[in-house]
Amino acid sequence: MSQEFLPFALPNIGEEEINEVVSALRSGWVTTGPKTRQFEADFAAYLGDGVEAIAVNSATAGLHLALEAVGVREGDEVIVPSYTFTATAEVVRYLGAHPVIVDIDPATFNIDPAAIRAAITEKTRAIVPVHFAGLACEMDEILAIAREHGLKVVEDAAHSLPTTYKGRRIGTLASDVTVFSFYANKTMTTGEGGMVVSAHPEIIKRCKIMRLHGISRDAFDRYVSKTPAWFYEVIEPGFKYNMPDIGAAIGIHQLRRLGGFHEKRQAMADRYDRELSDLPLILPPRPVHAGDLHSWHLYPVRLTAEAGIKRDDFIIAMSEKGIGCSVHFIPLHLHPVWRDGYQLTPARFPNAQAAFEAEVTLPLYTRMTDQDQTRVIAAVREILGA
Ligand SMILES: *Cc1c(COP(=O)(O)O)cnc(C)c1O
Repeated sequence: MSQEFLPFALPNIGEEEINEVVSALRSGWVTTGPKTRQFEADFAAYLGDGVEAIAVNSATAGLHLALEAVGVREGDEVIVPSYTFTATAEVVRYLGAHPVIVDIDPATFNIDPAAIRAAITEKTRAIVPVHFAGLACEMDEILAIAREHGLKVVEDAAHSLPTTYKGRRIGTLASDVTVFSFYANKTMTTGEGGMVVSAHPEIIKRCKIMRLHGISRDAFDRYVSKTPAWFYEVIEPGFKYNMPDIGAAIGIHQLRRLGGFHEKRQAMADRYDRELSDLPLILPPRPVHAGDLHSWHLYPVRLTAEAGIKRDDFIIAMSEKGIGCSVHFIPLHLHPVWRDGYQLTPARFPNAQAAFEAEVTLPLYTRMTDQDQTRVIAAVREILGA
């Protein structure tokens, strides 16, 4: 049993990415510049529908910029699901506003539109749906609620490249802003990075200014423009959230490979579905609408009572077989910062709590071989006594 440990996730970096990074390094332009511009243009063209894209150094930074740009201010409330990464909620606090954490749909793990409705108050300013694992939220319903109550919608699309909802790519729906993540384990990476996407020019303009210290022109603008390169004006106390060209160099090629990455993820999800379907597991939900595409960022399964093994012990058993698993997510209502800060109890989040207690994320990434997946499937079957 001297097989190598199979990690839970690995990035897929090719020679094109490496050569492009080297070219950025040799060019002398390592921070935000021509490669970032190209990456932004390529990304916007990939999504289509006339959206604009601005590159940032993380999705967390992007979500902060997005909420600031749609007007979230001190004392406001922003509705977020409990079943997400803490970044979704922490950015609300950056602005002195309060995340109002709500429960999820038990089948999809996505924010429950009925829970959104129930949480709306006079102070509610925005909704942040998270497309969990890469399966789109019920966006028509969420957008209708937002319209009805005059709320902004900022999609946390960290898992959702390339997710579609009723035939339209996430990033091109009628929400105000969508934010993607290029963190190391996401469906494409720039090392660290994110992309803010919107069809609203005034939101894009605001995000661009706040991305770089509240300066009215960025460094590359100043470098290529006719007015003196040393001149700039600061119009707001902004942030330092720009993406360096070293990262964008990776992103340009990851984006070109995204279609191939997705085919592989889809095939792997299909194989897991086929070869695990007879086990005491609840397999991940499949899209329900025509024209929905799952990105398969994650393959989350749930152990049923018949499995005869607790989630934590299952993960230990997988690890003893040399396979890394993970849990998505430890819901927000269990983390001390949110639990104690907002007096949250599991009883208020029965669906997120039940999902968390039974959930295991199996390894699914493009560098896994068929043999790697065979190993994972064999290990799961053995532990569950099949
Ligand atoms: C990864 C992730 C983020 C944060 O992305 P970064 O690029 O690491 O800042 C936000 N929300 C969700 C749901 C995530 O999974």
